[in-house]
Amino acid sequence: MARMAEVADAGGLAAAVMSGDRRALARAITLVESERDADVAEADALLDAILPRTGNALRLGVTGPPGAGKSTLIDALGRQLIERGERVAVLAIDPSSRVSGGSVLGDKTRMARLSADARSFIRPTPSRGASGGVARHTREAQLLCEAAGYTVVIVETVGVGQGELAASNLSDCLLLVLHPGAGDDLQGMKRGILELADVIALNKADTERERAEAAAAELTRALSLFARHGTSADPVVLVTSALSGLGVPELCTALADRASSERESGTLARRRTDGLRAWLHEELEALLRERLRRANVSAELAELERAVESSRLTPRRAARRFLELARLGDA
Ligand code: GDP
Repeated sequence: MARMAEVADAGGLAAAVMSGDRRALARAITLVESERDADVAEADALLDAILPRTGNALRLGVTGPPGAGKSTLIDALGRQLIERGERVAVLAIDPSSRVSGGSVLGDKTRMARLSADARSFIRPTPSRGASGGVARHTREAQLLCEAAGYTVVIVETVGVGQGELAASNLSDCLLLVLHPGAGDDLQGMKRGILELADVIALNKADTERERAEAAAAELTRALSLFARHGTSADPVVLVTSALSGLGVPELCTALADRASSERESGTLARRRTDGLRAWLHEELEALLRERLRRANVSAELAELERAVESSRLTPRRAARRFLELARLGDA
C-alpha cells in the first residue's frame, strides 16, 4: 500500500514538473537528492515518469578555477540565450556548502539578473564532497529540468581535480572559463582540462583585454599541437567579459554551433551513452559506500587495520574479510 501511495504521489509531482511548475521542479530535485529510504522509491517512480520527456535540451557544462568568472559569465550567457528564445536552467554547484555542513545556502547574489527572469531556473546544489564538485544527483536534476521544458541546462562545476572529467561526462558541450593570466601559466595547466573543453573563454577582457587576447592566441597555438582523442575538433577559444558583455553573443553562437556539429557527426550521441555508462558506475560505487556505512562495521575495520599494521594479516585478506563482515562478499 505504501508503495502504491508513493507512486501516486510521484505521478502527481511528475505531472506538475512537466507542466513547467517551478516550485514542483524544486521539490522534485529535493526528492531525488534525498538519501532517506522512504524517498528512494518515490524518486525512482518520478524519474520513470519524466524520462520520456527528457533528452531534448542542450546540456552545457561550465568549469574553470574559482574566481575566473564562471557564475558571472553564466548570468550573462543565460540572459543572451533567453533573448534567443531559450529557457535556461542552471545547476550551480555550491562549494560553500562543503564547508557549512551540507545545507543549501542559495547564494542569492550570484546570477542575480538571470535569476530574476521567469524563463530561468537556478538551483544551487551542495557538492557534498563528491569529486570535483559534481554532486551525486546532478544528473537526475538535469533530467528533471529537461522534463520541465528548459531547453538549455547548464551545470556549473569548480575545475579542480577530476571535476572536468565529471563535468564532461554529463554535458554535450563543455565550456572552460579562464582568467587572462592563464596564458602565462600554460605549462602548469593540466592538459586534461584543455583536452576536454569544447569552448574556452578567456574572461575579464574588459580590464585586461591585451592580456586576454595574448592568452587566447597562445592557447590556440598550444591546442593545435595536441592530438585530441574522443572529440573531433579543437576547442574554440574566445575572449569575453562577463561584466561588459564583450564576446558573449559570440560565445553563445560558438556553443550552439559546436553542439549542432556534434549532433550531426554522432559525437553527441556517443557522449551521452558514455555519460550513461559513467552514471551507472558512479551509482554503483555510491551504493556500495552507503551499504558499507550502514553496515556499521567501523570497529571491525579498526581491528583489521591493527592486524594489517602488525603484519598479522595481509591487506588483501583483510579487505575480503571486511566485505564478509559487512555482508557484501563471501571472502
Ligand atoms: P567564479 O568563482 O568562477 O564563479 O567567479 P565569479 O563569477 O564569482 O567572479 C569572481 C569575481 O570576478 C567577481 O568579483 C566578479 O565580479 C569578477 N568578474 C567576473 N567576470 C568578470 C569580468 O568579465 N570582468 C571583470 N572585471 N570582473 C569579472
